[in-house]
Amino acid sequence: MKNFFLIIIIFLTSCSTPIGGAKKIEDIKPEETPSIETIEAGLWMQMNNYEEKLKTSGSRVKDKSLEKYLKNILCTLTPDYCKDIRVYVQDMPYFNAFMAPNGMMVVWTGLLLRAQNEAQVAAVIGHEAGHYIKRHSLKAWLDAKSRTDLMAILAIGLAVGGVPSGGDIFNLTQLLQAGFMAKHSRDNEREADKIGLDLLIKGGYDPKEAPKIWENIIKEMELGEVNKPLAFLASHPAPEERIKNLKKQTQSYENFETKKNEKELKQKTSPHLKKWVKDEMRLKNKVEQTEFVIDLVYGDNKNEYLLKFYKGEIYRLRGDIENNFQKAIDLYKESIKLKDDFADVYKELGLLQLKIEKDKKAKKNLQRYLDLAINPKDKSIIESYLN
Ligand SMILES: [Zn+2]
Repeated sequence: MKNFFLIIIIFLTSCSTPIGGAKKIEDIKPEETPSIETIEAGLWMQMNNYEEKLKTSGSRVKDKSLEKYLKNILCTLTPDYCKDIRVYVQDMPYFNAFMAPNGMMVVWTGLLLRAQNEAQVAAVIGHEAGHYIKRHSLKAWLDAKSRTDLMAILAIGLAVGGVPSGGDIFNLTQLLQAGFMAKHSRDNEREADKIGLDLLIKGGYDPKEAPKIWENIIKEMELGEVNKPLAFLASHPAPEERIKNLKKQTQSYENFETKKNEKELKQKTSPHLKKWVKDEMRLKNKVEQTEFVIDLVYGDNKNEYLLKFYKGEIYRLRGDIENNFQKAIDLYKESIKLKDDFADVYKELGLLQLKIEKDKKAKKNLQRYLDLAINPKDKSIIESYLN
């Protein structure tokens, strides 16, 4: 709260002096910290305060090795700023990442769920590092022209200060407010994209993966509901333009390496996928949109049984309207045809069959679930259905 008042003081003093038209602001140097009593120091304090809360917040993903992995990507991209930027993973089922002026970078799980390889994650991390190097948060603050802009920026500290944890993660308003923290001008976004792509190429990653992220986001958006924009778009300009710019910039390089590291990313995210996919489904977006995301995750041949299972889950979770349960049952059966020893599918199939009174088959499948599952938590409940 103390820091909040500090920002208010900055805001009040700002009112008496014109604040628009930021002077030329130099890049932040490696290991540089703002000198005390500057606006920038105030912004840093605010964000340090938020960062302390985030560290122990329930919404932070408790996986040190995943955060370390992302940090290593950052350090590969930009060894100079490796010490200055911390990377956190926050449990939010939306595609987003943001960079605070003090060096706190936050990546949301919805982004990691959608990324197809390490190069795509690196493209985002490089972009966010670009915001840091170019001091874009400070510029956004100084460029805020109206009282409304300032009040909105002010509100951010409060919005992000109370990081939603646990059950609260689906509060879209809060997410959008948090997203505003990273609302940069189009020019700043373009600049961050340019730096991001340069870093990506220097790090040996395939630059053609950068526009692919945005192409996927466009496809996903087109499948979703018009009134439910993806969180990232609340804080970032239209993806079409950046795709064009990224492709053009890539052409200006004579040659580049093409490291993608798909396996490396999947290895790090695989312990979380089940939960992240469930969170995605709980958003109850349009079936086609959720299917698209699940296709990104399990679309390769090896995991087709999971693709079928989760597509079944999409229908089951929508309740028994429009023949949803039958659609789910059909998809579960297809999953079993592809792999006949995946425990979860027998449970969901059995429970649905129990609901629509195919008693015998239901019990057979639930028994199969108990045989296959390793120490299932719901063992006694399932057994009670069998008797
Ligand atoms: Zn950005």
